[in-house]
Amino acid sequence: MTEPLSFEKSRRSASPPRLPEADVAGPEPSQILAPDQLRTNPPGLPRLSEPEIMRHYSRLASMNYSISKQFYPLGSCTMKYNPVVNETAAALPGFADLHPYQDEDTVQGALDLMWRLERALCAVVGVERVTLQPAAGAHGEWTALRMIQAYHHSRGDTRTEVLVPDSAHGTNPASAALSGFHVVEVKSGRDGRISLADLESKLSPKVAALMLTNPNTLGLFEREILDIAEMVHATGAMLYYDGANLNAFMGICRPGDMGFDAVHMNLHKTFTTPHGGGGPGAGPVGVKADLVPFLPTPTVERTNGHLKLDFKRPRSIGRVRSFYGNFGMLVRAYAYIVAMGGDGLAQASRDAVLSANYLRKQVEDDLEMPHDGPCMHEFVASAHNLAGDGVRALDVAKALLDRDFYAPTVYFPLVVQEAIMVEPTETESKATLDAFAAAIKEIVAEARSNPQALHDAPRNLPVGRLDEVAAARRINAYLQGQSEDPVLRWKPAQK
Ligand SMILES: *Cc1c(COP(=O)(O)O)cnc(C)c1O
Repeated sequence: MTEPLSFEKSRRSASPPRLPEADVAGPEPSQILAPDQLRTNPPGLPRLSEPEIMRHYSRLASMNYSISKQFYPLGSCTMKYNPVVNETAAALPGFADLHPYQDEDTVQGALDLMWRLERALCAVVGVERVTLQPAAGAHGEWTALRMIQAYHHSRGDTRTEVLVPDSAHGTNPASAALSGFHVVEVKSGRDGRISLADLESKLSPKVAALMLTNPNTLGLFEREILDIAEMVHATGAMLYYDGANLNAFMGICRPGDMGFDAVHMNLHKTFTTPHGGGGPGAGPVGVKADLVPFLPTPTVERTNGHLKLDFKRPRSIGRVRSFYGNFGMLVRAYAYIVAMGGDGLAQASRDAVLSANYLRKQVEDDLEMPHDGPCMHEFVASAHNLAGDGVRALDVAKALLDRDFYAPTVYFPLVVQEAIMVEPTETESKATLDAFAAAIKEIVAEARSNPQALHDAPRNLPVGRLDEVAAARRINAYLQGQSEDPVLRWKPAQK
């Protein structure tokens, strides 16, 4: 099954699209643009009839794999069901048709939603204030590190290092480096948790912050978090919480109470706003009182029921995103929180942890489990036990695609060989978890009986196994000027 590009299917004789009359009054382009700015030929757009266009996009959509079609057990990414009611809320004309330059008095409802969402997120993570501006988790990390940097500078303290555990998400060291910090790695112990001895040896007055994920990316709770917080604060550094995945914790415990000073949250993971495909996300950052003066401008303030945007914040790190963040995502997340209520959020977390432990138990005899359970909302297995048959984590992932499941995260975290990281989430039924476990068992049996079949997977999808080695070689050769540029996009035939 393939689908040619609309450009390739284009027919000159197709009737032109029926466009509505322009509703913008004013002069014609030819009256305001210089002659050399006017195009002489029509743009080379594809020309197809309305039904042809409809079928083209429907066929493309049917090749797409998404959470609305099947199970998507991607570890460290929380692909949970996105309630449709969120979309209805975000599409309300009073939200969807706003203009960011509208007068404050005409957008009181939108500001009120932002104010309420901020309060709700403060309650979930236990902080003083939250900025809703950052557009992704990584952007939130960077925003928080800039605030931490500004805080140290304001005290005449120049700190140059940020500590990051070896199990951390790759965005952690990247955000620290992008903020101009020197990244120092902290080792994990044998139990998959941060080594306190290694942490102690790396703490010094040069350290601005420790970035920690808890539960960490192995799905394990850092039990010694209170001691860690004390050690970090004793050296004058701050403790940063990577809260991209809050799915184990909502309504159960709070980073703020564990001693964290700043935390980012991914609305597009925990709070059911759509995720992936490079679409808009939202990575709000919560901070304790010491960091509040440094929050990005503007903040939303409420006095006597009247809401306003506060741009006069002299110690702010400034704006980190145009306008007020990805507002549509804020509406969706708020709709989710209100629909769930506090008890609902706590139940979602309990169910997420139960699902992960149930599934872990189902497959513990099939794959290696490098760390002892129980786990939190996700677990990390290893395909190392299949290495003798020449089968790797990648083969298991591709074989799952043929069985109509999305592949789990593989080869992350880096501290586990042949890692397969699974996060089922609370929105899956027991039947789905059982079917997934059955697929894993079938694949492991096939690894013993017919490993070549796994190397050939996927066979039932529009695109089969890609030759990643050849691709990497060609890109390298191109970068070194030894070959033509690789063909990565369609180009029109020269006329
Ligand atoms: C997803 C994730 C991030 C980054 O979030 P983005 O929105 O993809 O930038 C950071 N840390 C962890 C642990 C994550 O799972």
